[in-house]
Amino acid sequence: MATERSILHVDLDAFFVSCELLRRPELTGRPVVVAGGAEFHPGEPHRPGRAVVSAASYEARAFGVRSALPLSVALRQCPRLVVLPVDIAHYAALSKQVFAVFRDYTPLVEPGSLDEAYLDVTGSRLLAGDGPTIATNIQQRLSSELGLPCSVGVATCKTVAKVASDLRKPRGLVVVPPGEEAEFLAPLPLERLPGAGPKSVERLRLLGARTIGDLAGLDHKALLAALGSQGAPLQARARGHDPSPVVPPGLPRSISRERTFEVDLTSVDEAQRMVRQMAFAVAGRLRAQGLLAGTVILKIRFQDFRTLTRQTALAAPTSLDLQLSRSARELLEAVYEPGIRLLGVGAGRLQEGEEAGLFPTDESRAARLDQALDRLRSQFGAETITRGVGDLGRVSDWNRDHLRELGPQPRPER
Ligand SMILES: [Mg+2]
Repeated sequence: MATERSILHVDLDAFFVSCELLRRPELTGRPVVVAGGAEFHPGEPHRPGRAVVSAASYEARAFGVRSALPLSVALRQCPRLVVLPVDIAHYAALSKQVFAVFRDYTPLVEPGSLDEAYLDVTGSRLLAGDGPTIATNIQQRLSSELGLPCSVGVATCKTVAKVASDLRKPRGLVVVPPGEEAEFLAPLPLERLPGAGPKSVERLRLLGARTIGDLAGLDHKALLAALGSQGAPLQARARGHDPSPVVPPGLPRSISRERTFEVDLTSVDEAQRMVRQMAFAVAGRLRAQGLLAGTVILKIRFQDFRTLTRQTALAAPTSLDLQLSRSARELLEAVYEPGIRLLGVGAGRLQEGEEAGLFPTDESRAARLDQALDRLRSQFGAETITRGVGDLGRVSDWNRDHLRELGPQPRPER
């Protein structure tokens, strides 16, 4: 008999609000929302503009205040509401720490958003215990190490785990034993089933179905009439069958930039400059994500809409500005003809890794220069600093030539 899978769905409770309370503990126990959006005036809650609630504390929920509610409505329902602006950077930093805890138990972590994830802990039993044990440990650790409350569902599949995590918030732990999935789901309202959108629910209602169990029991013909081809997979989930695996986010297949020109390019120099600029942008993205490229791809579309893509393997995987742009420019040289509508540069065959910088070679000097440029760009904005890409208007006070005067000579580009 195959081992039953053990899947956790971990969902942090009122995550944005919990993050804010960590640095504003005096607000604990009060109705608090995090809100943002157009015309929001932080600190002036009497001018809510068109802001909507992003997250609400459980004290605020007692007044019917929920995420996606317009802030103006929320304030009418709860005039004492404390309104804080959204600070995604703060939440993302905490989210990283949360996910690091998840990965202590299994590498199979599939993020749903900043504050929720599926974990497949089937293979973790010997090292860390069974699903419910791991769920309890994660709850305790997030609470004691990070001060963040969460709810967890434990089941044999993602669908049931997700329904379970949502059932007893906050700080809920719901375990659905193998074989009891259908029974667990049956009495719950249809809206709780992941994938049952408002339209499907409405159509199922017309058939008299109110609960997930009603959907599970519908005959094939009625199901097909109500939901078409969507019906069968939804019914399978309603019966607690969901074989979909927990998939950790993989590497992107490629990273690319492309640009359609308002006026077709007719000079080879201009085209080369554009290709170089896009290659630098792609290389910067690679470095930001800790990736190296194995191939460089050039896409070109001519006036008459003929479109070509060409690719070339790099001698060694790299994320260096100059290496990527050199290869991209060679590709361009081979196919260039005047009258270009669109150019694109991509990096393919990606792998994780940093540019090796152990030896003072030309490459490691170039890598250090790239890193220095990345730092300056992140400090002063992407548009402020670039290499000698020339007359692009708004770009570049600094360029490679200036930097060359300051430090060791990187290998010059051809
Ligand atoms: Mg949540």
